[in-house]
Amino acid sequence: MQGRAAPAESGIFTMSSRPATRRRAQTRARTPKVGFVSLGCPKALVDSERILTTLRAEGYEVSPTYEQADLVVVNTCGFIDAAIDESLQTIGEALERNGKVIVTGCLGARPERILERHPRVLKVTGPQTYAEVLSAVHEHLPPQHDPFFDLVPPQGVRLTPPHYAYLKISEGCNNKCSFCIIPALRGRLASRRIDDVLREAERLAAAGVRELLVISQDTSAYGTDIRYAPAVWRDREYRTRFIDLARGLGTLGIWVRLHYVYPYPHVDEVIPLMAERRVLPYLDIPFQHGSPSVLKRMRRPAHAEDVLRRIAAWREQCPDLTLRSTFIVGFPGETDSEFEELLDWLDEAQLDRVGCFKYSPVEGAAANALAGHVPAEIQEQRHARLMERSAAISASRLARRMGTRMRVLVDSVGEQGAVARSEADAPEIDGVVRIAAAGGLRPGDWADVEITSADTYDLSARLDCAAGATSRR
Ligand code: SF4
Repeated sequence: MQGRAAPAESGIFTMSSRPATRRRAQTRARTPKVGFVSLGCPKALVDSERILTTLRAEGYEVSPTYEQADLVVVNTCGFIDAAIDESLQTIGEALERNGKVIVTGCLGARPERILERHPRVLKVTGPQTYAEVLSAVHEHLPPQHDPFFDLVPPQGVRLTPPHYAYLKISEGCNNKCSFCIIPALRGRLASRRIDDVLREAERLAAAGVRELLVISQDTSAYGTDIRYAPAVWRDREYRTRFIDLARGLGTLGIWVRLHYVYPYPHVDEVIPLMAERRVLPYLDIPFQHGSPSVLKRMRRPAHAEDVLRRIAAWREQCPDLTLRSTFIVGFPGETDSEFEELLDWLDEAQLDRVGCFKYSPVEGAAANALAGHVPAEIQEQRHARLMERSAAISASRLARRMGTRMRVLVDSVGEQGAVARSEADAPEIDGVVRIAAAGGLRPGDWADVEITSADTYDLSARLDCAAGATSRR
C-alpha cells in the first residue's frame, strides 16, 4: 500500500493551470474548481488521473486547497485497517474544511463504513466508477460552458438539425431474436444511469432542441441490468427504468418520442403520460409479425402477450395514440396461413405507420438453421400485399385528421412551402405535414395549422391564423 499518491499542499493534487487570460476572466466568470485527494496504490492513482483528465476537458479547474475548491473528491484506499483509518480521516478533514465531499475508490465498495462515520458526504462510489464520480460532480457542481473557449458545445457534436436530437439510453441487448446478431456485435444490455440521461436531455433542451427521440435496442428493458439504480435529478429521486425516464423527460416541456419499445405489461404505465401530453402519444414497437407461431420461432420478446387487447386498451385511454411498427415477411417456415394471420392481425391492430422487410439471412443468426426458407418471389408477393394493406389503413387513419387543428414542428422551408411534422411523425421514417403558404416560417419553428387534405402517408395544411400560427425559438 502506498501513501498519498502525490503529496501536495493539504494533500490535494495541484495541477498546473495556465494563467487566466483577461478574456477568459471575463467570459468564464466562475470556473468550477474541484479539489482532489488521491490515496492508495498506483491503480487508484490512475483512476484519479482519468477522472481529473475528464474534469479538466470539461472545463473544471483543479484546486490546490480545500478552501478554494467548490467541492472535493476523495479517492480512498481500503486495503488494510491503517489505510481505512487514513481514508476516513481524510474524508473528515475535507468535510470540515470544505463541506462538499464525494468519495470514491476501494473503501467506497463498503459505503456503510463511510456513511456511519461521515453521513454528510454527497456521494459514495466504488473503485473504477469513473462515470458515477463524474456524474456526481456534474450534479453538485455543474460544468460551465464557455462558447469562446470550448471547442465542443455543451450539447455535444450532433449530426441532426438543431431542433431535434436522438437520446441514446442504453447499448446492447439481452434478447435472443433468432434473426438478429446485434447482441453478439454490441454485447449485453448496458443502461446509462437515469441522472446521466436526464442531464443530457436537459442540456439538449437548453440548447434549443425541441424534440427528443429516445433510442436503444430495447427501450422497455431500460435499467434492468443495473437493477433500476436510483439517482437524483433536479432534487427528485428517479430510478433507472422506463417509466421514470418518461416522467423525467416529460418535465422538460419539449416533444419526447419513444422508439423501440416492446409490449411488456409495464409499458401500460406510460399511456397516461401520453394522454396528458407529458410525452408524445407515439409508440414505435417493432412487432415483426402477428402470428404467435412465427413470433415464437423469431424468439421475440413479449411474444406471448395479448398485444391486440393491449392496443385496444391503450387507445381507449389515449385515443390520439400513434403506433408505428416494422414487420418481417417470408421468415423461414412462414406458411400461407401464418401470413394471412399477419394480415388479419394488421386489420385489427390498425397501426398508423408500418415498415416491412423481406427476411434475409444474416451470417451468424440462429434463424439461418430453420427449415422452410421462403422463395424470393413469394417473399416479394407477401411484401407487396402487406404494404398494400398497411397503406390502406394509413390512408383511412390520416383521412380522419381532415379539418383538425394541430401543432407541428417545421423541418425545412423552400419555395414550395414548409415541410413539418406532427406528433404522429418521427423524422426520416414517418409522414410529413406540408404547409403551402409558409409565410416566414423557419426550420425549428412551431406552427399551428389546420389540415386541409390527406393522402396515403402525408398531410397538407394551412397556417391556422386564429391560433397565432407560429412560435420561434
Ligand atoms: S432484434 Fe431482438 S435481439 Fe436484436 S436488438 Fe432487437 S430485441 Fe435485441
